[in-house]
Amino acid sequence: MVRRCGFSPEVPVSEGRACDRTAPGGTKRHGRSGRRRAGRDAADAPPRQVCNSPAVLLADVALPVPIARAFTYAVPEALAARAAAGARVVCPFGARRMVGVVVAVREGDPPPRTKPLARVIDDEPAVPADLLAFLRDLAAYYFAPIGEVMRLALPPVERDTARELEEPALFDDARGIAGRRVQWVAPTAQVEEAGTLRGQAAAVLAHVRAVGAEPLARLEERWGNARAAVKKLAELGLVAVEERAAPEEPLFSAPTARDAPHAATPAQSAAIDAIAGALREARAATFLLHGVTGSGKTEVYLRAIAAAREAGRGSVVLVPEIALTPQLVARFRARFGDDVAVLHSALTPRERHAMWRRLRAGQVDVAIGARSALFAPVRALGLVVVDEEHDPSFKQEEGVRYHARDMAIWRAHRAGGVCVLGSATPSLESEHLVRTGRATKLRLQERARAQPMPRVETVDLRRIGPGPTGDKRISVPLYRAIEEALAAREQVILFLNRRGFAPSVRCHACGQLATCGSCSVALTFHKGPAVVRCHYCDYEAPLASRCPKCHAEALALEGLGTEKLEETLSAAFPAARVARLDRDVASGKKVEAVLDRVRAREVDILVGTQMVTKGHDLPSVTLVGVVNADAALDIPDFRASERAFQLLVQVAGRAGRGDAPGRVLVQTWDPEHPAVALAARHDVDAFLERELADRRELGYPPFTRAALVRVDALDEGEARLGCERLAQVARATGPTRAGTVLVQGPAPAPIARVRSRFRFRVMLRSPERPALRAVLGAVEQARSSLPRGVRSSIDVDPVQLL
Ligand code: ADP
Ligand code: ZN
Repeated sequence: MVRRCGFSPEVPVSEGRACDRTAPGGTKRHGRSGRRRAGRDAADAPPRQVCNSPAVLLADVALPVPIARAFTYAVPEALAARAAAGARVVCPFGARRMVGVVVAVREGDPPPRTKPLARVIDDEPAVPADLLAFLRDLAAYYFAPIGEVMRLALPPVERDTARELEEPALFDDARGIAGRRVQWVAPTAQVEEAGTLRGQAAAVLAHVRAVGAEPLARLEERWGNARAAVKKLAELGLVAVEERAAPEEPLFSAPTARDAPHAATPAQSAAIDAIAGALREARAATFLLHGVTGSGKTEVYLRAIAAAREAGRGSVVLVPEIALTPQLVARFRARFGDDVAVLHSALTPRERHAMWRRLRAGQVDVAIGARSALFAPVRALGLVVVDEEHDPSFKQEEGVRYHARDMAIWRAHRAGGVCVLGSATPSLESEHLVRTGRATKLRLQERARAQPMPRVETVDLRRIGPGPTGDKRISVPLYRAIEEALAAREQVILFLNRRGFAPSVRCHACGQLATCGSCSVALTFHKGPAVVRCHYCDYEAPLASRCPKCHAEALALEGLGTEKLEETLSAAFPAARVARLDRDVASGKKVEAVLDRVRAREVDILVGTQMVTKGHDLPSVTLVGVVNADAALDIPDFRASERAFQLLVQVAGRAGRGDAPGRVLVQTWDPEHPAVALAARHDVDAFLERELADRRELGYPPFTRAALVRVDALDEGEARLGCERLAQVARATGPTRAGTVLVQGPAPAPIARVRSRFRFRVMLRSPERPALRAVLGAVEQARSSLPRGVRSSIDVDPVQLL
């Protein structure tokens, strides 16, 4: 039996990974039928059937270990009432105790040596039933260990070791700032006698038990008699009142004045009506909101959230990490006040935990965050927005390799809700959904404030020479355009996708390229501090004076990185203030600091990598220069063209967002390349059309389903052999009755060695998802028989192919 939703991931309802495997203690589990029942338990809790005698209550628990299956424990009588699916439990695991999440409770014969649960932590399941079911299906879809998937959904404080959970003092520690001390009300372990509490005392107690310690002042905001209630609770020993540091003001929480929404443009109104209609009807639907940069997509999201609210439903908004800026958050807060939980990587674990608890308790019904906000425990979820849905950062590239955009559709639909995918440059996957009738396209054709789109000109580097700097990569037209912008006191962004000073170092005597000792990549020279560095393993060393191979003093720097571009521009335009934005100068909060300086007009020219391309609204930027458009095209990846196109359109969209018109110069050696030529014309539709035709012809996604099996090992032969084994298994399994699966490989990865490990891979493609799943299932089984030291992984719907 297969559950389908409008979109795609077809996952059998009961496909728990542990189904037919051995349970802890070496016994076989119930197998499929037992698991199916367990699945229902997870969804609708009680009626527990007896299936076999001697029937004992058992809990299948996801533990944070990289093992596919859940582990079975016996549920002691005393814990039976609270050991529900979704509850966190403390389990003995080897010599340790671990916190896990119950995925299902069932009755059955206990496998030999089954240990009992030590403790149930939650009265109310930490993971609500709908989220739990979603996580289980996600684990099955990606062939990922259920315990690791569960980790994604729980904030660290909720999931960490039993010790922390058993020491509430540690758990409730407030790492406040600024030293201001206030009264906090914390729940104690004491239990009240039934019926002793009524009214606000009962409400306050329930509240602090649900969300953890709270400042008294905050309780008073909600309950007029909170002070008296707390006094009574403290006398009964049910809460402790302690002086602690004032609550840390989470980043992005500065109070904001409420905004008055603009009158929607006709295109915005049409989009909002469509989304609100689906929300009112509680209809599972997907919308692709295709609007040029600055067309007012964010305004549509804000109104969609309001519509969801009116229907009594909560919302999740996913944005690329780098686009989750205080400015963006301020727009949400200006509309919804403090009813927005912001899940940002800069949050401390404690802040994250507080946000999570507020959502879980239903105090806040909008969550906004990067990829992992997909798992926010929003109540009565009705809307999931994915902004910049084409962005590759929605794919997690380590651990559980899930794609938040694909799963957003899934999560929204299973909740009977709406998914809105927004982009100026839709992914081919999303466009394909529209063309196959599984999503509805909503267009915003014009910029909301009626600014014209910037003029884009390509600079053919084959014909056009260097400007006064003598460096070909600052061509005459680019140089002149910078000059003009500076003269007009306007700002300039230059985009160059290589960080460092010089991307490679070569010996001009023997031709040797300096490469990393552990990775098959060239070392990049960084000037401040002067070192060569590997961008894959972070190896770093001073630049040698002689070639390690021929000992000639002939090492030369090659290529242009952002650091050198910054230096060159500073020299060429001494009066201009030049700043740089890339991973070397800016991480997390520092990115904002640089952008704030740009907004404050303290910067005239901003040089940077991808970081400058994302949705920043910098109104005084009128000139955007793409230094080397071809770099993104030279990547061995079937999506290279799509990526390059998106990058060019996005970076062009940075120009002319204010009142002055924008201008974009794209330097390229290949101006006829469709990705370059069509980006220059802002012709997204023509590009989609063309690229889809190519993909169809070559049998690539979205016309086929793909998976990448990766194998790596310190020994090259072992890695190749291991990969060969898995490829053989794949070939032996397919074609299945469900269809054919194309197996390519094993082949060395484009970057054949990283961190001393040799990397091989097999690419699997099939027009049919079930056929691919059947083959992957066999590969997954075979993985466990690879020798120790040979690592392998399955990447379903791969994005990163290097
Ligand atoms: P996008 O998310 O598509 O890039 P935004 O939502 O950021 O676009 O809107 C771009 C600019 O237009 C913002 O400054 C926003 O305040 C403004 N804007 C959006 N909708 C309207 C509207 N209906 N009327 C006037 N200005 C609008
Ligand atoms: Zn390296």
